[in-house]
Amino acid sequence: MVKKVLKFGGTSVGTTERIQHVANIIKKERSLGNQVIAVVSAMAGKTNELVKLSNEISDEFDKREFDVLLSSGEQVTCALLSGALNNLKVKARSWLSWQIPILTDGGHSNARIINIHVEKINKYLNEDEVVIIPGFQGISKNGDITTIGRGGSDATAVAIAKIFNADSCEIYTDVDGVYSTDPNKIPVAKKINKISYDEMLELSSLGAKVMQSSAVQTALMYDIPLEVKSTFSNRKGTKIFSQENIDYTKSVTGVAYSKDDAKITIIGVNDKPGVAANIFEPLSKSQINVDMVIQNISSDQKTTDITFTVKRNDILKTKEILKNNRQIAYKKIIHNDKVAKISIVGAGMVSTPGVTYKMFRALSDENINILAISTSEIKLSVIIEEDMTLKAIKKLHTIFDLD
Ligand code: ADP
Ligand code: ASP
Ligand code: MG
Repeated sequence: MVKKVLKFGGTSVGTTERIQHVANIIKKERSLGNQVIAVVSAMAGKTNELVKLSNEISDEFDKREFDVLLSSGEQVTCALLSGALNNLKVKARSWLSWQIPILTDGGHSNARIINIHVEKINKYLNEDEVVIIPGFQGISKNGDITTIGRGGSDATAVAIAKIFNADSCEIYTDVDGVYSTDPNKIPVAKKINKISYDEMLELSSLGAKVMQSSAVQTALMYDIPLEVKSTFSNRKGTKIFSQENIDYTKSVTGVAYSKDDAKITIIGVNDKPGVAANIFEPLSKSQINVDMVIQNISSDQKTTDITFTVKRNDILKTKEILKNNRQIAYKKIIHNDKVAKISIVGAGMVSTPGVTYKMFRALSDENINILAISTSEIKLSVIIEEDMTLKAIKKLHTIFDLD
C-alpha cells in the first residue's frame, strides 16, 4: 500500500467549489488504494485578512494571540475538506495540531516543528480513513498554539512525510510546477521537469515562493523527494530530489527575485582593523541578518565606505542601532529601500566559466546599474533599482536560454 502526503495551497482551496474539487482528487487516490494524509492551507487571502484584523486592533498585537488568530484559517479549510469528503462517502477526519499533537520549538510566528506523534493518526489511516491536517502550525511545550512562518504549510507537509515515512509528498498548487522564473510575471518562463534540492533551496530563499525554503531544507536534510504539481490540471509537475539524478545541459536553471531587501551605506568610517566587527556585532546581537557586504577601497588610506543589505523591514532598527553605536565614527548613513535582488541559480554554473561576466554584461546592455553583488557556487545575486526588476529578469531569462 502506498502512503501519500498531499499538500493543497491557498488558491487550491480558495472557494468551496475548489475544496470539492480537491476532495475529488483525494477520492481518486483512495480508489487506487492509497493511504492519504492531506495537509491544507487557509483559503486564499484568509491569512492576510487575519493579519489585517490584528493590525486594526493594534500595531503591537500580542504574539501569542496573533498565532491563535492566524492558525484559524487552516482550521476552517480542514473542516470544509473533511465535510466535502464525507459528502462523497469517503471517510475522513480533521486533526488539529493539538489533537495529534504536532510539537514545535522556538518563538511565536517562527516556530519549528520538532516532533509529531504518530500513534493516533496511524491507527486512523489503517482503518482506511483520510487524515486532514492544518498546515503552518503546531503547539509549543507550554501547549500554546504556534505558527511556523508564512508559507509554512509546505514545511508541515515535508515534516509529516518524513515522520510518517510516506512514499510520496506532493505539493499541489496553482501552477503546474517550478518554472525557470515566476510564470505569472514572465509568461515565457519554462517548466523545469527536475530540479535538485540545492537549486530549489536557493531559488526559494531568493524569492521563488512556489516552495517555502525551510520546507526544501528539511527535504534536503532527510532526502525526501517532492513533486510540485497543479490542482487544476493533470500535467506532469516538477520533481525535486538529489542532484546525482540530474544531468545539467544549461549553466542556469532559474532566475529569482525579491523585493524584501534594503541597502545601507555608512560613509566615511575609519579604515582599520576591527571596524567591520564593531559595525556588525551589535546588528547580529539584535537578530538582524546582514546579507551582502561591500567595502570600498579607501582613497586616502584613512576612511572608507561600507555598504550592506538587510531585510527591508529591519531598516529602521538597523539605522537606530548604528546611530547608537559608540564604537564607530562615520560621516553619514544613507539608505535605499527601493531596491530588488535578482538572482540566477544553477548547479551547472560550477562547470561553466563566464557566467558572472555574462550576467553583468547583460545588465549593462539594458542600462541597469548593479548596486551590490554576492555569489555562491550555484548562485549569483545582484541588487538593482527596484523599477528595473522586470527588465532585468526578462533579459537574464533570454541570455541564459531559458525562454
Ligand atoms: P500555494 O498557496 O499553493 O502555497 P504560493 O502562492 O505560495 O502557492 O506559490 C505559488 C506561486 O509561486 C505561483 O502562483 C507563482 O506566481 C509563484 N512563483 C514564483 N516563482 C516561481 C517559479 N519559479 N515557479 C513557479 N511559480 C513561482
Ligand atoms: N496560510 C499560511 C500563509 O498564508 C500558510 C500557507 O499558506 O502555507 O502563509
Ligand atoms: Mg505557498
